[in-house]
Amino acid sequence: MTRTAMIAGAGYAGLAAAAVLARAGWRVCVYEADPEPRSVGAGLYVHGFVHDALRKTGAYDDFMRGAFKPAAHCVYIDGARQSNASTDGNITTTTRAALHVALIEAARRAGVSIAGGSRAVAADPRGALILADGTRLAADLVIAADGVRSTITQTLDIPITRVPHQDGITRILLDRDGLRDDKWNSIHDYYDYRGRPLRVLYTPCGSDAFYFCLMAPIIDVEATSVPIAGALWTARFPDLAPTLRRVGSAGRHDRYATTTLSTWSRGRAAIVGDAAHAMPSSLGQGAGVSIVNAVALAEAVAHADDIDAGLGDWEVAMRPMVEGWQRRVEDVASQRSLSRAVRPSEQRLVELSSEDSDRKHARQEGDQRMTLVPSASWYTEIIAAVDQQQAGIKDHLGRPWAQHFERVALRLIFRKPDASRAHIESALLHDAMMERGGGREMLNSLGISQEACEIIEITTPPPNADYYRRFQEVGPAECEIYLDYVRKLCASGNRAAIQMKLADITDTIEACRTGRTPLLIDQFVNRYEPSRKLLEQALGSELG
Ligand SMILES: Cc1cc2nc3c(=O)[nH]c(=O)nc-3n(C[C@H](O)[C@H](O)[C@H](O)COP(=O)(O)OP(=O)(O)OC[C@H]3O[C@@H](n4cnc5c(N)ncnc54)[C@H](O)[C@@H]3O)c2cc1C
Repeated sequence: MTRTAMIAGAGYAGLAAAAVLARAGWRVCVYEADPEPRSVGAGLYVHGFVHDALRKTGAYDDFMRGAFKPAAHCVYIDGARQSNASTDGNITTTTRAALHVALIEAARRAGVSIAGGSRAVAADPRGALILADGTRLAADLVIAADGVRSTITQTLDIPITRVPHQDGITRILLDRDGLRDDKWNSIHDYYDYRGRPLRVLYTPCGSDAFYFCLMAPIIDVEATSVPIAGALWTARFPDLAPTLRRVGSAGRHDRYATTTLSTWSRGRAAIVGDAAHAMPSSLGQGAGVSIVNAVALAEAVAHADDIDAGLGDWEVAMRPMVEGWQRRVEDVASQRSLSRAVRPSEQRLVELSSEDSDRKHARQEGDQRMTLVPSASWYTEIIAAVDQQQAGIKDHLGRPWAQHFERVALRLIFRKPDASRAHIESALLHDAMMERGGGREMLNSLGISQEACEIIEITTPPPNADYYRRFQEVGPAECEIYLDYVRKLCASGNRAAIQMKLADITDTIEACRTGRTPLLIDQFVNRYEPSRKLLEQALGSELG
C-alpha cells in the first residue's frame, strides 16, 4: 500500500524530504503557510557535502546551472589585506531563490503536491497534521519543517532549547552592476576594529548577483538597523562605498541562534531543518545541514518495514553530524565574535610581525586612552604572563581559563572605548590577588600601576567569598556571602572597579548560559545574575 507523508513547510528541509520520499513511491503533500513557496533572504554557501544530498532530491543539475564558484577568499583587517587564498573551486554559492526553485521543481517532478496558503498548527504523534482551518490530515509520517520559529514542535511536547547569540547579520542581495571585473568574482571579507567592531562580507553568488552580509554586535543598535546606516558603513568601508550606497532600504537583519531538541521525533511525527537544529550562520551551513538531514530522514523511513524504528535509526545516525556542525559553527562564531571585539586569532601575530608594529605600539602607549583592541607591548606582555600563570587550567566549558582575562578586558573596552590603561590592566589581572593568582610579586614584575592595583584590590573577594573553581561547594549561605561582597563593592562608589567587576561577571554569565549544566545554571540564577543587577544599579545606565 502507498505510504503517505504530510509535511509542514516548503523550505529547503521540507522540500528535500518531500522529493526523496516521493521518488521512493510515497504520496507526499507539503503545506506552506505563505501563499506561494518563496525564498526570503539573499545568498547561500552550499558546501561539497550537500551536493550528494541534492543529487538524491533530483535538484542537483538545476542547482548547479544557477550556481557560482568564487575564485578566491580575501580577508582584510582594518583596511589592510591579510590573505587572498584560492578556493580551488571548492566553494559553491547561489541565491537562496535559485536553490529553492531547484528544489520546488524537483519535488513537483517527483509528484509532490505543494499547497500554498495552508498554515499547519499542530502535529499528532499518532500520525496526523492539523491545519489552521481544522483539517486533520492522516499520514504514515508527519514532518515538521516549519523553520526556526517552529510552532508545530511546541505541540509535540518536546523540550526545546533556543540560545540567542550576541551577534547577528543583515543580508542584502544586489545586482553586480559595476562589479563585474575579476576582483569581484572573489569573496571579500572586511573586518574593521577601528572604533566599534564591524564586518562586511561580499559574496558573489552568480555572474549577475552578489550579497552583502553586514555584521555587528547585537547591542550596536545603529549598525544592526535596517534600512542600514549608510553613513556609518560607507565611512568605515570606503572601498565598498559606491555599492553600499545602492542598498537603500533593502535588507533584513537576523540574530544568530542555536536550537536543540531533546528528541527529533515523537511517535509518527519528525522534526527537521531549522525547526530542530538551527545554528549561527558563521560558516554558512544551516541550509546545507538541513537538506542533508532531511534527505537522511527520508531515506531512513522510505523503505523501512517499521517507520518508528527508521526514525530512531535516523536520529542515532545523524545527531553526531548535526551537533558536530552546531558546535563547530558556535566555536567559529565565538572566536570571531564581534560582540567581544575579538579579532580573528592570527591577527595579533600579524600585527606584531608587521614592519610598523613598533610605531603602532609607540603611538598607542603614548596615548593611554585606548580606542582599538590593543596590541601594545604592555598588553601582550600581561597576556603572556597570565597565560603562563594559568597554564593547563580549564574553565567549566573546557576552554583555557587564561582566555577569561582577555575577554574581560575586551568586554570592558567594548563597553568603554575610552578605558584607561590602568583600567584595562586591572581587568587582565583581576584575579592576581586571589588564591591561585600571581600576587603582588606578579603585579610588581609587570610594572602594574598603583591605580590598577587599587582596582584589583577592591574587587578581590575576601577569602570566605573566594569560590575559585569550587562551584559545587556554593550553597545559599555562600551565595549570600558573595552578594554581600558585591554590595560592599557597589557601596565603595569606585566606578572603575564596579565597571571592571561587571565585565568580569558578564563573561562568567555567558559561560553559565553556554554550559547550561545544572551547576552552572544554579550559579547563574543565585549568584551571578543578582550580582550583575546590583552592579548595573550602582552604575545607573552607563554600562548596562
Ligand atoms: C543570516 C543568515 C545567513 C545564512 N546563510 C547560510 C548559508 O550561507 N548557507 C547555509 O547553508 N545556510 C545559511 N543560513 C541558514 C539557512 O537559511 C537555514 O538553515 C535554512 O533556511 C533552514 O531551512 P528550513 O527548511 O529548515 O527552514 P526555512 O527555510 O525557514 O523554511 C521553513 C518554511 O516553513 C514555512 N512555515 C513556517 N511556519 C509554518 C506553518 N505553521 N505551517 C506551514 N508552513 C510554515 C515558512 O514559510 C518556510 O517556507 C543562514 C541563515 C541566516 C539567518
